[in-house]
Amino acid sequence: MAFTLRARLTAAFLAVVFGPVLLGAVLVALTVQRVDSARAADRLNLASDAVRGSVNALCQQLHAVASTAALLPDSAREPDGVALVAGGAAGAVRVEDRSGRVLFSTGAAPPRPWAECAGPPGDAPRPGAGHGYTAIAARVPLRDQRGVSAGYAFAVRALDAALLARLTPNASVTLIGGGPEALSTEPLSTEPANRAERVADVAAGLPDGETGRTAGRYVRRLTPAADEPLPLAISTPGPGVGGLGPILAGAVALAATIALGVAWWLARGTTRPLAELAGAVDRAAGGDLSARAPVRGLDEIGRLAATFNRMTREMQAYVGALTASRDQLRGHLDMLGRTLSSTHDLHRILGVILQTARAVTGARSGAVLLVEQDALVGISDDLPLRVPLGTGLLGSVAATGTPLRGRVGRDGPALVPEEPTCLTYVAVPLRGPDSVRGVLALYDRLGADEFDDADVATLRTFAGQAAIAVENVRMHEEAQRLSHTDPLTGLYNYRTLNEALRREVERAGRFGHQLCVLVLDLDRFKEVNDSFGHAAGDAVLVEFARRVRAEIREVDLAFRHGGEEFVLLLPETDAPGGITVAERLCAAIGGTPMVVPPRLPDSRVHKPAGRVPVTVSVGVAVFPDDGTSGPAVMEAADDALYAAKAAGRNTCRAAGGDADLIASPAPGLSTGGAPELVAGGGGSGASTGPHAPRQSRGR
Ligand code: GH3
Ligand code: MG
Ligand code: MG
Repeated sequence: MAFTLRARLTAAFLAVVFGPVLLGAVLVALTVQRVDSARAADRLNLASDAVRGSVNALCQQLHAVASTAALLPDSAREPDGVALVAGGAAGAVRVEDRSGRVLFSTGAAPPRPWAECAGPPGDAPRPGAGHGYTAIAARVPLRDQRGVSAGYAFAVRALDAALLARLTPNASVTLIGGGPEALSTEPLSTEPANRAERVADVAAGLPDGETGRTAGRYVRRLTPAADEPLPLAISTPGPGVGGLGPILAGAVALAATIALGVAWWLARGTTRPLAELAGAVDRAAGGDLSARAPVRGLDEIGRLAATFNRMTREMQAYVGALTASRDQLRGHLDMLGRTLSSTHDLHRILGVILQTARAVTGARSGAVLLVEQDALVGISDDLPLRVPLGTGLLGSVAATGTPLRGRVGRDGPALVPEEPTCLTYVAVPLRGPDSVRGVLALYDRLGADEFDDADVATLRTFAGQAAIAVENVRMHEEAQRLSHTDPLTGLYNYRTLNEALRREVERAGRFGHQLCVLVLDLDRFKEVNDSFGHAAGDAVLVEFARRVRAEIREVDLAFRHGGEEFVLLLPETDAPGGITVAERLCAAIGGTPMVVPPRLPDSRVHKPAGRVPVTVSVGVAVFPDDGTSGPAVMEAADDALYAAKAAGRNTCRAAGGDADLIASPAPGLSTGGAPELVAGGGGSGASTGPHAPRQSRGR
């Protein structure tokens, strides 16, 4: 069983406080007892001396009476003997002859045995058999005229309590031992009857001169001697300080009670602050940092409580600061996450990454730059920045791909004028899959400390995010591009055409502008494929797209509508403008044969690389003149294309058949003729035929 600290301290204090009290009480009791027994011994000595003196005096009186009786002539014995007894010196006088016959007797002499004064001690009655002596007597020999012994004269005094009481005033006296057992069973004593027997018993067992105790009394035995023939026990009451025992016991009990109270109070006073401290520590351990222990003094426990309070207070402040910084960081990361997932605006993403990195490290400013050809281009505090690769701090980090941190003028390369000025810096590269994509840098940490390795690690994490963001945005842009463009020619695809047509028609309608739509279809392209192979056909399509792009403005949009059919949207362009462009295109395509690669080995016909003459027919229509909607104007352009094909190909036609606008076939080219290999020989020799029946264009 585990005792509490308070219980143990109470026990300890009790032992310390009450132990000496108890010891003192025992010592006092022992001393008192010793003093008491010494005093009792003194009193017994006095009493025994008094008893011996009294008995001795009695014996002398009796002896005098007996001597007188022995000297009296027979005739005078009667009156004088009576007178002797009447004098009170003896209870009785008896004269006996040598045979024991009573010659004279007066007074009441009790029956023998008598203790004889100056008698031999060996005459004493047997011990333990009650008081045998009935009287004390003095014996004097009778002598006749010749001086011959004729008997004895006795002076007898009966033994009774009154006689014993007169022997000494200082003690009780008890007659012990000897005599015929029948006489009495109770000892003759001045003690009360119930005590006399016990006193007699104890005294009978005591060696000579020793003191014994019974029933609260000190007892001593007086052995018979020549001058004192009576076997007596004397006793005196116990301690003279009789009330001391209970007083002492009361004092000890009181001391014990007080000690218990004091011990409990001391233990409580000692353990209470400890218990309070333990409670506060428990609460703090449970996460309650507002727990405080009461400081009840300046002792060790008080100091401990004060230190604990200071510790929890500082921890609370520290945790508060950490929580605030965590919340702030969480906010920044939230924004970063939202930005990363919601936008592909690289400029904005990099700005948020820079801002988050600054907030995390406590930097005054920073910069984020991306590699563009031979320079780093980016922003610092929303200001544009351009640093040549390999120059200054940022250029070095981008060139070497190694992070740098330190103090300007002491560590690393010197700053170039294009870079932001700073005192301390940390800069890490943004690594792409195969090369450095840019640099993320922070300047001047608030609080003037230099950036440390932990900042480098933090910034590297952000740089990793930034690099991934750059990669994602580039991939996204590429995917966007691919989803909108035709992979072979790089022009916008059919899907984009519909959206662009709707948008451009709406814009033109809103601003009252015209939109010119050109539909282009390569002439007899099937024969190109048949003659030179599909790869050559593809090469022709690629070259065709390149030439078309070269002939149109930046605001014009070129689409591959499918196969060898293309569409151009020319914003803010009227019919004559569209015809001009169409003619220019016919000339650009038909004017110069296209170079194609040699035919692939597995093809049926083998032809070397060569130049293929290609022509194109163009249909022109204008919104809103030829159609008031995208599909309508598109259809008008298609019809115009059909007309151009019908007119012999390598030409253009405007919707509505405006004769003035109809262009003549491009000079120097055989309109509608089969493509021929201009260089490298081996023309297909396909015949010039009428325009094939018009197929559905699926719009
Ligand atoms: P025309 O338009 O002058 O009437 O004659 P055409 O021979 O051009 O006739 P048509 O429009 O019927 O034929 C189109 C041919 O274009 C059919 C197909 O072989 C070819 N073609 C379509 N798309 C591609 C392509 O992506 N690559 C190659 N190499 N050929 C293609
Ligand atoms: Mg076609
Ligand atoms: Mg065609």
